[in-house]
Amino acid sequence: MRVTMIPGDGIGREIAQAMMQVVDASGAKIEWEIVHAGETVLQETGELVPQAVYDSLERNQIAIKGPITTPIGQGYRSVNVALRKKYDLYANVRPIRSVGQTPSLFEGLDLVLFRENTEDLYAGLEKKISDDEMHSIKVITRSASERIVKQAFDFAVSHQRRRVTVVTKANIMKLTDGLFLEVAREVAKAYPTIEFTEILVDNMAMQLVINPQQFDVIVTENLYGDILSDLMAGLVGGLGIIPGANLGRNMAIFEAVHGSAPDIAGKDLANPTALILSACLMLEHLNESEAASRIRQALDQVLSHPDNFTRDLGGHIGTTAFTNLILAAMQ
Ligand code: NAD
Repeated sequence: MRVTMIPGDGIGREIAQAMMQVVDASGAKIEWEIVHAGETVLQETGELVPQAVYDSLERNQIAIKGPITTPIGQGYRSVNVALRKKYDLYANVRPIRSVGQTPSLFEGLDLVLFRENTEDLYAGLEKKISDDEMHSIKVITRSASERIVKQAFDFAVSHQRRRVTVVTKANIMKLTDGLFLEVAREVAKAYPTIEFTEILVDNMAMQLVINPQQFDVIVTENLYGDILSDLMAGLVGGLGIIPGANLGRNMAIFEAVHGSAPDIAGKDLANPTALILSACLMLEHLNESEAASRIRQALDQVLSHPDNFTRDLGGHIGTTAFTNLILAAMQ
């Protein structure tokens, strides 16, 4: 199976290299079509996303990408947001699970967050009213809300999950969040075997820190999902171990949750676990579940020893040495 591989910026090339080595050793038959997008390629070619990237994505319909740098405040829009919009990758899925003995605030946590990926305040509808006043328009539609909530419920059914929780701020944003909640309540009626609960986002932030075990599958809008998913990553050892998937009707792009970590780029310090786990999600999507579980087992084994932790997990080991340990564990 041919897969588009976009290494990305900062630590992207290091962790992409590690990920491809591990997948190649897993027995999965993946042919990598490597294309470049992001800040580095912008400096080299003047284009942030060269046409070759779009061509490859449209040819293969499946991709894995490293992080891409987005300047804060001004300049070009996020490549990630642009790809999600262009290909209507409406569902951002983030499994939150501890791996091995990685430092974790809670034992055995196993949550899955479904974040709506195409609208909300990310619609990019910003307007300058005056030097003193800027507006950003929040967009919520019935159709986009319905498909993300359905996907969360379908996942709950197919993965024997017990509960779906919808997160909104419908008490304040009565029209936009009110619509998302109304749709969730309607969709829930079609899934009588799954318990449905609803919670406001501020309370959710507190409950996740106090007692996250009460949750199972969570579904929410774009901005709340962005913030809560990082909070949830923090519950199980940080961004370095959390994978992600962006799913549309035809295309799927898998990526780590973390950014390009410019502070440690090129220093052999990056933890490739999140991108490797994203590759596992991709392999499962491609019905290569045996290869995925071989990789997961090796990761669990290696990360069961604190001596094998990278710096972000409180250890000292570098990207190359860590990757070699995983490769050895898979033999
Ligand atoms: P970041 O995730 O890059 O870094 C936050 C902290 O976590 C840093 O100290 C970094 O060293 C550390 N870290 C992150 N990933 C790590 C890893 N795999 N191993 C070890 N340590 C790791 O977040 P940021 O600094 O806010 O963002 C940097 C750039 O990345 C920005 O331009 C941002 O827009 C971009 N970004 C891209 C994506 C994406 O492409 N999916 C996601 C988030 C941020």
